Amino acid sequence: MSKIDEKLEAVLDQVLRRNAGELEFHQAVTEVLESLGRVVAKNPSYLENALIERICEPERQIIFRVPWVDDKGQVHINRGFRVQFNSALGPYKGGLRFHPSVNLGIIKFLGFEQIFKNALTGLPIGGGKGGSDFDPRGRSDGEIMRFCQSYMTELHRHLGEYTDVPAGDIGVGGREIGYLFGQYKRLTNRYEAGVLTGKGLVYGGSRARTEATGYGAVYFVERMLGTKQFSFEDKRVVVSGSGNVAIYTAEKVREFGGKVVACSDSSGYVVDESGIELDLLKEVKEVRRERISEYARRRSGAQFIDKGSIWDVPCDVAMPSATQNELTGRDANTLIANGVAAVGEGANMPCTPEAVRFFREAGVLFAPGKAANAGGVATSALEMQQNASRDSWTFDQTEQRLADIMRRIHDTCASTAEEYGAPGDYVLGANIAGFVRVAEAMRALGVI
Ligand code: GLU
Repeated sequence: MSKIDEKLEAVLDQVLRRNAGELEFHQAVTEVLESLGRVVAKNPSYLENALIERICEPERQIIFRVPWVDDKGQVHINRGFRVQFNSALGPYKGGLRFHPSVNLGIIKFLGFEQIFKNALTGLPIGGGKGGSDFDPRGRSDGEIMRFCQSYMTELHRHLGEYTDVPAGDIGVGGREIGYLFGQYKRLTNRYEAGVLTGKGLVYGGSRARTEATGYGAVYFVERMLGTKQFSFEDKRVVVSGSGNVAIYTAEKVREFGGKVVACSDSSGYVVDESGIELDLLKEVKEVRRERISEYARRRSGAQFIDKGSIWDVPCDVAMPSATQNELTGRDANTLIANGVAAVGEGANMPCTPEAVRFFREAGVLFAPGKAANAGGVATSALEMQQNASRDSWTFDQTEQRLADIMRRIHDTCASTAEEYGAPGDYVLGANIAGFVRVAEAMRALGVI
């Protein structure tokens, strides 16, 4: 839909030139700048003091060598990253991704998205992201631990509960956060619980953090469906991925009366018409760390498919929860032809720009990741709150806060879209509402 405003085009050109070849970063910035035309038309003062140029340039980017020794005594080298993008609203906050596809452009796109997502939560957290091109697949527990220790040996000097607070993302879960926290504590001689989130419950983690991204995405989509008098009740749902986000999305969909009929990993997808059996999925993916085909092997009636796309499976609601650009324009057309009513992004930027355009043109309700998946980082901020007050909340109390936050994010996106003349456009609403909060803080803090 939106063509870019000409005043913002110069900003975008500069970003594309200065960050040559970083395609995912270009994609994320383009989408946000496309949304800002209506904001600067209404309030041209946002064009002053290079505020938008400053939002597009990370405050600090750290790239470092991560040497580690495998079980056979062989030395490996990976590259570590931490992009500290924006700290106008609070300490840099955002996950770490360990995956062979990681490069600076991917970490920058994730860090950039994180700024607006974190702003939307209404909580005091800035935006950042980090990770490594380390591939955890097939690595022993000892190898994972040594990698995490080496990674933290460099990163620790850049972190702090008031400076930068990492968490998990793809390839980084409770086990890795434990090893990272252990090494941070050892190097600094400080039990600084609030320096990392996604911790285990025994050493300062928050209840409901593991579930939060998936649960939050379902709360958001349920409220979005409600604007059209729909709900998850009796709906067919496809959730791509089978990591933390996908599993807890499926769990909450089932609680809301929907049926998840397919999920996936990078090797293919499974279709289970009687509804994905969550205990088995958790056993296969969380405990045994096996491929998704193992689910189909152990579940009668389930089918493993290793060609085509999971989006060929007809559904009422699609929840892409695997990784960036996993749902293409072709997939969007298939979903639309099959009558999809709503799409909620559980992952970060899982739909290509073409797919998003097709959904918008077809009038499909579309919840962008930076709003729909904000429940994870919001609950991270609640974990920081508990750590700061040396408190620990119950599951129900924490989930209630999460549900309230997701409803508020939904309503903010919806009312902002309406205010700017595009009712129902959650992409526009999320980008504008996130931007305005960050921009107001940056303005107040001066040119820094
Ligand atoms: N990686 C998650 C995200 O994309 C969570 C970040 C956090 O909890 O800091 O938002």
